[in-house]
Amino acid sequence: MNIEVNKDKAVVVFSGGQDSTTCLFWAKKRFKEVIAVSFDYGQKHKFELECAKAICKKHNVEYHSLDLTLLNQLAPNSLTRQDIEVDKDSPKEGTPNSFVDGRNLLFMSFVAVFAKQKGANHIITGVSQSDFSGYPDCRDVFIKSLNVTLNLAMDYQFVIHTPLMWIDKAETWKLADDLGVLDIVKNETLTCYNGIIGNGCGDCPACKLRKNGYLEFKRLYK
Ligand code: ZN
Repeated sequence: MNIEVNKDKAVVVFSGGQDSTTCLFWAKKRFKEVIAVSFDYGQKHKFELECAKAICKKHNVEYHSLDLTLLNQLAPNSLTRQDIEVDKDSPKEGTPNSFVDGRNLLFMSFVAVFAKQKGANHIITGVSQSDFSGYPDCRDVFIKSLNVTLNLAMDYQFVIHTPLMWIDKAETWKLADDLGVLDIVKNETLTCYNGIIGNGCGDCPACKLRKNGYLEFKRLYK
């Protein structure tokens, strides 16, 4: 089967949060056609997927949600199980309990299969080594290694882009501002563990991280 590679087409791994929404608009500036893909892995906050869908609808982006609930069956974790609380701080050793073995590897592999079917060779993901929270599969070396593996596995020229790899939360806000989408990212994305869009509940670890990044951005760049 020969699939023609379209160099103007890109697939974005999209969750409807601050990081992946910034990546979505980063991709929209660079590629003629952008498709967003979310994963349903039984996350506690189903609202996350609705939020992702709503952003795509509003900004005319083709949207797909792929079922990966199998992941939760394999590896119970704090992102999916109501009875496991998300670790507030990174543990001294090992990975935090919000880390799901193989999650990014699986997500990226499925996205690659999807992208090839769509004839796209660009894949964009919002992983970052700078705000490295102990996730081994968010590191640059993993993404580069995976890129080679995917190309060999499917005999296809994927190019994985990671616009946030070396920037922190404040610089991610700056990137959104530079792209002219600061208000969209501020008002339409969902980061809050309590499922509140935009500024969120203001109290959960995700909200605090987001707010601190925003304040730092305002302090440094505004
Ligand atoms: Zn919150």
